[in-house]
Amino acid sequence: MGATVIDGREVARSVRERVAEEVARLAAPPGLATVLVGDDPASALYVRNKRKQCTQAGIRDLHQHLPGDVSQESLSAVIDELNADHDVTGILLQLPLPRHLDPAALIGRIDPDKDVDGLTPISAGRLAQGTNGLRPCTPSGVIELLDAYQVPVEGAEAVVVGRSELVGKPQAQLLLERNATVTICHSRTRDLDAACGRADILIVAAGVPELIRADAIKPGATVIDVGIHRTDDGLRGDVHFETARHVAGAITPVPGGVGPMTIAMLLRNTLAAAQP
Ligand code: NAP
Repeated sequence: MGATVIDGREVARSVRERVAEEVARLAAPPGLATVLVGDDPASALYVRNKRKQCTQAGIRDLHQHLPGDVSQESLSAVIDELNADHDVTGILLQLPLPRHLDPAALIGRIDPDKDVDGLTPISAGRLAQGTNGLRPCTPSGVIELLDAYQVPVEGAEAVVVGRSELVGKPQAQLLLERNATVTICHSRTRDLDAACGRADILIVAAGVPELIRADAIKPGATVIDVGIHRTDDGLRGDVHFETARHVAGAITPVPGGVGPMTIAMLLRNTLAAAQP
């Protein structure tokens, strides 16, 4: 029997609808400042999608587009202004930045209460300590998918492949917060397949196309594929979907799995940041 294919587009739609309903009830709408530096076409497309979906949810679009040669000092000053601007309730600095800029210093400058990407050191610390704060969008989108499909997390063996600040690490912490037993794998893990084979919930964010194949998956496991790769055969993930779907109990496709959740969770964070 084939796995249940987790429909990220549908779950994301329902998150967006709920956000729009709550935004409509606020006295003043949230305002999201997306900050795009330069003209990288992929970044421009991501930002366009974020702005469009925010506007559709009733969030004010307070976008800033800066030239690719903007200095660290000027960009820092823009972030300071956005931090001080009461109309701006959320700030998103689109990554990657041009090479002459220091992304860690710039992200660290964002007011953590407006940090809708959940990437500042203070947001990371709040997550690590389990206190209130804005959580990174992609890993919280994964938790939302698990909840939408009523996947039991408490007590489950959860394996996360990848330990980036953007996905793997916060993913592991979010699963721990939900009382899973969490293993984190990375490029030095000795026997990746053996570790993955223990997982009731396997979340793969390695950035390696089709790294995980059916023989590394425990029968009936829930497999969440965060990877996105443009290949000659179209978009592919970090999991070999066609074989994995015959072993897993539930699995996300690429596209249409985790991808749509990231912007939906950005809207959710933008709403949360606007509520004291
Ligand atoms: P990243 O910063 O490159 O991190 C990749 C992680 O995977 C690292 O921790 C690395 O280990 C580990 N890794 C690499 N090769 C491995 C291997 N052969 N076996 C085990 N672990 C391995 O990537 P990222 O930003 O976390 O993104 C991961 C993937 O998710 C990418 O495909 C990216 O495009 C995608 N992504 C999708 C979304 C979305 O919205 N759907 C959002 C963000 C990212 P080391 O630490 O040891 O180097």
